[in-house]
Amino acid sequence: ASTWANVKEGPPDAILGITEAFKKDSFPEKINLGVGAYRDDKGKPYVLPSVRTAEQKVVSSSLDKEYAGITGVPSFTKAAALLAYGPNSKPIQEDRIAITQSISGTGALRIGGAFLERFYPGAKTIYIPTPSWANHKAVFSDSGLEVKQYQYYNKDTIGLDFEGMIADLRSFPDGSIVLLHACAHNPTGIDPTQEQWQQIAKVMKEKSHYPFFDMAYQGFASGDTNQDAYAVRLFIEQGVGLCLSQSFAKNMGLYGERVGAFSIVCDSAEEKKRVESQIKILVRPLYSNPPVHGARIASEILNDAGLNKQWLGEVKGMADRIIEMRALLKKNLEELGSKHNWDHITNQIGMFAYTGLKPEQMETLAKEHSVYATKDGRISVAGITTDNVKRLAESIFKVTG
Ligand code: PMP
Repeated sequence: ASTWANVKEGPPDAILGITEAFKKDSFPEKINLGVGAYRDDKGKPYVLPSVRTAEQKVVSSSLDKEYAGITGVPSFTKAAALLAYGPNSKPIQEDRIAITQSISGTGALRIGGAFLERFYPGAKTIYIPTPSWANHKAVFSDSGLEVKQYQYYNKDTIGLDFEGMIADLRSFPDGSIVLLHACAHNPTGIDPTQEQWQQIAKVMKEKSHYPFFDMAYQGFASGDTNQDAYAVRLFIEQGVGLCLSQSFAKNMGLYGERVGAFSIVCDSAEEKKRVESQIKILVRPLYSNPPVHGARIASEILNDAGLNKQWLGEVKGMADRIIEMRALLKKNLEELGSKHNWDHITNQIGMFAYTGLKPEQMETLAKEHSVYATKDGRISVAGITTDNVKRLAESIFKVTG
C-alpha cells in the first residue's frame, strides 16, 4: 500500500469554499462578502499609494538580498513597537520590549503560542472569545496550548455579553492566559467600550491573568491608529504585563507580503535580553529568519515622516469607506421597510459586520440571491460598494422578512 494510504481528506477551509462557490456562480451581479480583504468602491483590491511609493524607494535603493537576522529588519520592528505602544510608552523608553518580526499576524500568534507553551509558568491553557477568528483555535492548539473559551457575544442583543465575559474572567484560575482582540473583533465587529476595557483590565489584574493581544486591525477600525491601540496602552499603564501580535496585512494592505511582529513587554531591560534570546532560539528552527521585502516597505512608511502622514490618511480613507458602507446598508434596509433593528450594523466596527442572520438565511442569500458570506452571518463590509449596496439590502430584506 502507499505510504499515505491512511491519510483521510480533510474539510476545505470555510472561507475558501465560499470563494469557490462565488467563482462558479455565473450571475453577473453576484456579491462576495466572504473574503477578509479590503476592496475599493469598485470592488477591486487596493494597493495603498503610500505602499507603491515606499516599494519604489526600496527597489530603487538596490539593497542586497542577504538574510535578515532571526528577529527580522530592526528599523521595521522598532517602528512597529512605536506604532503599537505609542511614542510615550514607558516600556519602550526603558528598553524592555522584546520584539521579533513575524510571518504576518498568524505567524506572530504562532510564535507567541510556542513561547507560552515553552515558558509560561502557569497553566498552558489559552482562553479565546466565543466566537473568535476561526484560526485562533488551530494556531494555539498546534502550538501545544489547550484552548478554552470565554463568553463574548450576546446573540439576543447582537452585542457584547459584557457581564458574561467578566464573570468568566473572574471564574478562571488565577494567572490564566486570555486572548483579547485589541480592536475590530473578528468575526463580530463588536468591541468593548473604553469604560468596559478599564473594567476588563481591572479584573485581569486582580486575577493576575496574562493578556495576549491580537492586533490585526490597528487604524483600520476607527481610522486612528492611536485610538485603536487604546486597550493595549491602557493595560500597560495599569502595569499589566502582556504580549502582542501585530499584522500589517489590513492597515497597509500588505496581505501577501506577510508583515507582522510579535512582542513581549518585560519587567526590565535585563529580562528583555533573556526573553529575546529565547525567542531567537524558538524562531531559528521554525523558519530561520523572516522575508525582508514587505518589512522594508513597512519600515519606509513608518519611518519617513511624509510617507507616514500619507499612510495615516489612507488608512483613515479605508476605515471611513467601511463606516460609510455600514450606514448605507442600514439606510437601504430601513427604506425598504424592514421591521428589524439594524443598529448593530453601524455600532459594530472594522472589516466585518455580524448581521445576526441564521445559517439557513445565509444559505438562501447564496442560493437565491448570489450573495456569498460565511454561515455564521458575518459579512465583509469591505465587499460592499455604492453599486451593490441596494441589491444587497434587497436580498437581506427578502430573507429576513
Ligand atoms: N487575527 C485576526 C483577528 C485576524 O482577523 C487576522 C486576519 N484575518 C489575523 C489575526 C492574521 O492575519 P495575517 O496572518 O494575514 O496577518
